[in-house]
Amino acid sequence: MEIQFLGAADCVTGSRHLVTSGPHRVLLDCGLFQGWKMLRERNWAPLAVPPHEIDAVILSHAHLDHSGWLPALVQQGFRGRIWCSAATRDLAEVLLLDAAKLQEEDARRANKGGWSRHDPARPLYTTKDARRAIERLRPVATGKPFDPLPGLRAELTPVGHLLGACAVTLRDADHALVFSGDVGRTDDLMMPPPLPITAPLSLAPDLLVVESTYGNRQHPADHTVAHLGEIIRQTARRGGKVLIPTFAVGRAQALMLVLHRLRDEGAIPDDLPVFLDSPMAQEATAIYTAHRDLLRLSKAEARGFSEGVKPVHKPQDSAKLSRLRGPAVILSSSGMATGGRVLGHLAALAPDPRHAIVFPGFQVPGSRGARLVSGATEIKVMGRYVAVKAQVHHLEGLSGHADADGLLAWMRQMPTAPKQVMVVHGEPEASDALRIRIEDTLGWPARVPQAGECLRLQDLGTLRVANRR
Ligand SMILES: [Zn+2]
Repeated sequence: MEIQFLGAADCVTGSRHLVTSGPHRVLLDCGLFQGWKMLRERNWAPLAVPPHEIDAVILSHAHLDHSGWLPALVQQGFRGRIWCSAATRDLAEVLLLDAAKLQEEDARRANKGGWSRHDPARPLYTTKDARRAIERLRPVATGKPFDPLPGLRAELTPVGHLLGACAVTLRDADHALVFSGDVGRTDDLMMPPPLPITAPLSLAPDLLVVESTYGNRQHPADHTVAHLGEIIRQTARRGGKVLIPTFAVGRAQALMLVLHRLRDEGAIPDDLPVFLDSPMAQEATAIYTAHRDLLRLSKAEARGFSEGVKPVHKPQDSAKLSRLRGPAVILSSSGMATGGRVLGHLAALAPDPRHAIVFPGFQVPGSRGARLVSGATEIKVMGRYVAVKAQVHHLEGLSGHADADGLLAWMRQMPTAPKQVMVVHGEPEASDALRIRIEDTLGWPARVPQAGECLRLQDLGTLRVANRR
């Protein structure tokens, strides 16, 4: 068995790891590169292996940095199955269709505005490509082995983070590996704590591939809910609006739950209008409700968390929203303000100091969100510059990722120590910090792979180190 790190090897996006076992090639995740333009340009580069030579994909979860290149893979000739959990299938459908629509809209706008360097600008993939990728999704039960290809056995283990998110265990006759996907936190508002990899298909894993988004950080003691309540109260007193750019899937639902609890506690005014201006978030909320047995909410909360939120359906109603008089909370996507309806609100609200813009969660460097939270006083939105005079806040407490301690605690629960850990899906300083902690506290050999690097599992040392619990 051999693994090649095709993405998320020196950055937090573009999760793609190619596993070769005998004649078979399996891609673990097929993510989009996001953030800096130089990273996004990698989406246009050909894959190291022609897509028609890949036999199957196993998806850890539906986030676009893990699934968003699937339509391009299918467009370029992939004809295999895409295995994932049932909830991941449902969310991926919503996310991939939206991603395709955004690609198409961007290309259309760039052609109209004439600001593309490519002439004419074309989308990375289309809605049709997304639909063809969605047709290939094959849901499987979590916690039960399945055979993605003859001679290969896999299992999905829920790891919190996002509805349906799982770690992937994969083995052939001789070797096994565990891929963490994105690991959630034990104190997530909506998702249960990540489950440990208990019996990795009755073969000790040779390799663990682990994410490191928060590999160099500890989540602060969680005052996020109270902090958000404070921001909303103050902004409402000024007569301003609170704009919360949010990922439509996962984060938007967590925010609705937080607002529901704040309202219940009387921490924010009962009559303060809350708008959900994201058709995709509305679809995702329905999927969360349908899979409510996977959430850590009481029955009443699982049913009621989205009550009292006004959904905004039509684009023309969205345009009116930021011009409404009086205070309000607007949840709108995309979460890093890279596209979507939030851009119109940003352009309308950013120049007025009465308003507040709250970014919940990690902002990929190079994104508009990252520029705003680092204090940009001017921001380019839809081809023109807008002054930023509104208050900008960054709430990191709603992150869906385990911090460094959480990642180590999850790894420590593995029944046997892997011969090698490869640390992926982090900014270089985060990956390296986690690498050092794995070596120092667990005593497992750990490395950060280079983009494109290959690793043969049979070449890994035969000497297993004891699992230091
Ligand atoms: Zn994720």
